[in-house]
Formats: sequence, C-alpha cells, structure tokens
Amino acid sequence: LFSAVEMAPRDPILGLNEAFNADTRANKVNLGVGVYYNEQGRIPLLRAVAEAEKARIEAHAPRGYLPIEGIAAYDQAVQKLLFGADSELLAQGRVVTTQAVGGTGALKTGADFLKRLLPNAVVAISDPSWENHRALFESAGFPVQNYRYYDAATNGVNRAGLLEDLKALPARSIVVLHACCHNPTGVDLELDDWKAVLEVLREREHVPFLDIAYQGFGSGIDDDAFAVRLFAQSGLQFFVSSSFSKSFSLYGERVGALSVVTSSKEEAGRVLSQVKRVIRTNYSNPPTHGATVVASVLNSPELRAMWEAELGEMRTRIHSMRLAMVEQLAAQGAKRDFSFVARQRGMFSYSGLTAEQVDRLKNEFGIYAVSTGRICVAALNNSNLESVTRAITQVL
Ligand code: PMP
Repeated sequence: LFSAVEMAPRDPILGLNEAFNADTRANKVNLGVGVYYNEQGRIPLLRAVAEAEKARIEAHAPRGYLPIEGIAAYDQAVQKLLFGADSELLAQGRVVTTQAVGGTGALKTGADFLKRLLPNAVVAISDPSWENHRALFESAGFPVQNYRYYDAATNGVNRAGLLEDLKALPARSIVVLHACCHNPTGVDLELDDWKAVLEVLREREHVPFLDIAYQGFGSGIDDDAFAVRLFAQSGLQFFVSSSFSKSFSLYGERVGALSVVTSSKEEAGRVLSQVKRVIRTNYSNPPTHGATVVASVLNSPELRAMWEAELGEMRTRIHSMRLAMVEQLAAQGAKRDFSFVARQRGMFSYSGLTAEQVDRLKNEFGIYAVSTGRICVAALNNSNLESVTRAITQVL
C-alpha cells in the first residue's frame, strides 16, 4: 500500500523550527516563526485569557458537543469585532458566521463551500502570500494564480500591476486578500487602493475572500477592520476568514471563524445550512475551550478592556522593535536604508535579505529567518536585537 508513497516536501516554516530546535548554540534566535514573543522571549498567556480560563475551570461545565456552527455567543462576538457593533449588515441578519478550527480551518471551510458554488473558478492570491494559501485552495480543488502585489524596488505595493492582474482574471474568480498586516511582506493597501480594488472586483464579478489573521496588530481593532467594513458597505457578497491565534495568543487552541456576507436574511439561512454540511463532513463540530474563553473575554466589559490593553501592548512592542531595528542597523553602518521596516505593519518584515544571506545568518550566527527574507519582528527583543542587527550588517 505505501511502497510507492513519496516523501512530501517539508513545510518551509515548520521545517525551520525543527532545525532551530536541534541547534545547540546558546545565542540562537528564531525569526522564522509566525508567533508573537514578549520582551522575555516567551509566548505570552494574556491576563484576560487566564481570568476567563480560571472562571471556566471553576464552573466545572460538562463537555458536550457544540452545535456544528459553534458557540452562538462566540459567533456573534466575532461578527461585531469584524463588522462593527452597529453594522447594518448584522442588524439585517445578512452575515453567516461559523466557529472554525483557526484561521486555516476558516479558509478551508470557505474553500470547500466555494468549490460547490463555483467549481470551475480560479483562485488568485497575492505574490507573495502566506505560504499555506496556495496549497490550501489547491487541496480544495482550485487552480491557484498569483496577482502582483509586492514591489521590491519600492518596498511597497505594485498598485498598477495589482489592478491589471485582477482585471485580467477570468470573470467570477475568487480573490484572496489580506485585510491587514500582510503576511509575509508587512505591506498593506491604503484606503484608495482598497477602493480601487473593490471597483475591479465589482466590475469583474470576482468573489472577495478577505483573510484577517492579525486584527489589532496594525493600528487597532477598528482601524484594522477597515477593509472588511468597506466591503460590507459595498453591497458585494464576500467571505472573511478570521483568527484569534495571534490577537489572543491562543495559537494551539485553534480559534477562528468563517463569515459569509449574503444579500438577505433568507439567503443567509440557506448559506448557513450548506456551510454546516461542509463542517459536519469534515470534523462534525468545533472544539470548546478556546472559543469559550474568547467569547467570555469579548462579552465581559472588564475582560475586554484588559484584552484590548494587552493587544495594544503587543502592537506597541512590535512597533518599538521596528524603530530600534532601523536605528541599530543605521548605527552599525549597514550598507542599506532599512527605514521601510518602520513603515511595515503587523508581525513581519520582508527584509530584502537574499536566500544566501539568510543562509549565512543561520550558519554563521544561529539566526533563523525564512529564505524569502521574511523575519518575524515580534521575535525581536532588547536582548537579541543587537546581535541580530550586527549579524545582518555583516551578511549584507
Ligand atoms: N492567514 C494568514 C495570512 C496567516 O498569517 C495565518 C497564520 N499564520 C493564518 C491565516 C492561519 O491562522 P491560524 O494559525 O489561526 O490557522
């Protein structure tokens, strides 16, 4: 049965983690991960989460199955976070939200549902994109293409290329867009870009699939939901995959959601019934713990305020690391202007380092980054910043 099974290629990022763990050098640094570390180099357990967990454990609640679509209080809290508490769409009952197994599970549920609706569609993702986007939509049976996005010459967005490629896609393509804090580049669209993109999507009848995995890591919860809310006002029907892995530091609990914007309450009921079928045949119903915790935090004014403050601390720390990195690189005489790093948003920076330079960082200094030059700024701290910037200066 298995004699002809070929070895699958290693996941580029998880493979990097394995190599990092096996490295015995004391001063090694892992900038390859997509995880927020605090100043002490640890993944934080947020205080708001700890409080909610304590209450949950003390309640000794039974562990029955959840409904297929997950916890209602959770799904509603997600909707308010994404669309705004006073959203008209929500008042009209036009948004279907189901709890998902992380942002990845939300994307896959959405992809499987879309495959039934538009079996011959093309999926378009940004060049570059989160490395799992392509594989995930391909595994749902779609051909996947890139649209131009990052412009290495300006460390910004290739606006003309982006719009041209979206226009050139077959009508009714599925277009995956990073709603904020683009992974891996850290380069986001601006207000006018979003409006221009929206118009092309409307003209070409493309189906937008907004992926928002870092809400609150750019400028704040509401600001980072800008694209979702702009699309909500457009009258278009679209998909949103969201994740609390980063914003609640609940990576392993797999807490995400899929939201589908429909054109009426009646349509929403039919769509929900079909999304539930996709879930039922994949994993039946979602896990309890993470979503219970998130729902109690979001639905308690005190815990919510605590969480927002903690999220703000994470965002501010990352930004201060960006500024410090730019400063140190300049102070150490790096032969390149890195000021763009301070303008990038979210956890990542496309540093412009080549695969060869990334290799040297690993071999000579024990500093691990993704071969594309993506580094996780959220893994920098005041203890490793100097050695990292010194090493970068040397490999340039
Ligand atoms: N989308 C993007 C853009 C991401 O960066 C990530 C996480 N790295 C995900 C989706 C998946 O999130 P989760 O870990 O919650 O599955």
